[in-house]
Amino acid sequence: MVFTVAIDGPAAAGKGTISRAVAAHFGFAHLDTGALYRAVGVKGGDPVEAARNLSPGDLERDDLRSLEAGQAASRVAALPGVRAALLDFQRRFARRAGGAVLDGRDIGTVICPEAEAKIFVTASAEVRARRRWLELGGAAGVRPLADVLAEVEERDARDRNRADAPLRPAADAVTLDTGALSADEAIARAIALVAARLGGRAR
Ligand code: C5P
Repeated sequence: MVFTVAIDGPAAAGKGTISRAVAAHFGFAHLDTGALYRAVGVKGGDPVEAARNLSPGDLERDDLRSLEAGQAASRVAALPGVRAALLDFQRRFARRAGGAVLDGRDIGTVICPEAEAKIFVTASAEVRARRRWLELGGAAGVRPLADVLAEVEERDARDRNRADAPLRPAADAVTLDTGALSADEAIARAIALVAARLGGRAR
């Protein structure tokens, strides 16, 4: 069975949590496509070459989740050569047998416009920044909330305004605002949506 779940949205909206839970629930494979751009961003050297030669080890670096890696990722993600180098791998992953969940910015619009289920996960910049700040240690961490908010807003603006594959919901995506939802509630809604799409097709 080929069945793709495309989960897009801005930084720290809850895409990763929802995607992992949806994949585990349905027994689908999961790809965090942001990790590809983060790995290219932190690798250094020519970003297009880095994207062409990405290895599994590059995706296991423990600095990939830092704010700096996020910023580096959104800078290299604006380069068409980088996006082109990562396209086939993501497309093949999306259409692999057994079902796949991909989370990113352009899964439903560019990587897999034919995805059977598309969810655009969002929340206000303040809510998203607070979540990322808590992930980074909150008041006990090294980054003030205001820094994290500025980072999230800067990255969103760059992702939304780039010419190639900008962040935007696909016309046929369902928007899921996680601002007022717990993680469990957001996951339950996403699972219900995917179940409805799965149920509506011959298997
Ligand atoms: O989702 P995550 O925060 O890990 O993504 C890091 C950056 O990678 C994003 O800000 C965006 O610039 C880029 N990205 C992208 N397309 C994707 C996934 C991530 O441009 N499908």
